[in-house]
Amino acid sequence: MKLPDSIQVIERGWLSANNVVLHERDEVVVVDSGYGAHAAQTVALIERALSGKRLARLVNTHCHSDHMGGNAAIQREFGCRTSITEGEAPLIDRWDDQALLLAIADQRAERFRFDDTFRDGDALQMGGLEWRVIAAPGHDTHAVMFHCPEARVLISGDALWENGFGVVFPQLFGRDTALAETRATLEAIARLEADTVIPGHGRPFGGASAALERAFYRLEGYEEDITRLARHCAKVMLSFSLLEKRSMPLAELPAYVARVPILAELNSRYLGMRPAEMAEWLVNELERAGAARREEGLLVARGQ
Ligand SMILES: [Zn+2]
Repeated sequence: MKLPDSIQVIERGWLSANNVVLHERDEVVVVDSGYGAHAAQTVALIERALSGKRLARLVNTHCHSDHMGGNAAIQREFGCRTSITEGEAPLIDRWDDQALLLAIADQRAERFRFDDTFRDGDALQMGGLEWRVIAAPGHDTHAVMFHCPEARVLISGDALWENGFGVVFPQLFGRDTALAETRATLEAIARLEADTVIPGHGRPFGGASAALERAFYRLEGYEEDITRLARHCAKVMLSFSLLEKRSMPLAELPAYVARVPILAELNSRYLGMRPAEMAEWLVNELERAGAARREEGLLVARGQ
């Protein structure tokens, strides 16, 4: 696996998406800005990566809180132009809390402005290379990827990780095309020429084919049994909240799963558990996955 020198990946954890820094001689473009709670760290990391160059543009693969949560802070610090996908422009304009999965998922992001938009098929000049914008619906209807045929690199956002892809929501709040979109997006990735994939989370990896095989296998499991997806979704949502809060009192979890709309909806539509039962099941699952542990009445996060 090799990346051109002009492409720098700042690998973050699961709460904050990776920042991809694309260098030109005097200017830099950054893809994705991490989660709001990490904004000060993100600004410091980007400041160091710039090493005196100008941050010309901030670009988002999609507008989930872990990818755009640092946008406002970066704009304040660097005064850069900001570009998002065309489909998300109205959501950002009116700060559509539900569509952006903020309060309904117990997530937060500071409101930001954008300067322009791009869409599927557009060409973007970033870091001295030409990148093709490719629609990547599924995890997020409006998400895109950036593909550079010349360097054979794909910035995949949450459409493909080394081991899986960003959580896909089963039918929730009236939308039920996410699995079909996910399949189409994975098929689109399979048609691209890429030696290296830079995912939204995790390290860059060589070639997409092994990752695609794992992704299709996982997708088939969800297609076979949608409740499998609902269970995965609930675990991902609680893990993310726990990463932000670092710990949560175990005694408060039943009320929490009943109160956070996305968890309550997953439960009423697919799981059918009492809140206390759902909380207990989630704690066991997170422990089993190594994402959390019980400690003196608290559920404590293990990752970052
Ligand atoms: Zn996402």
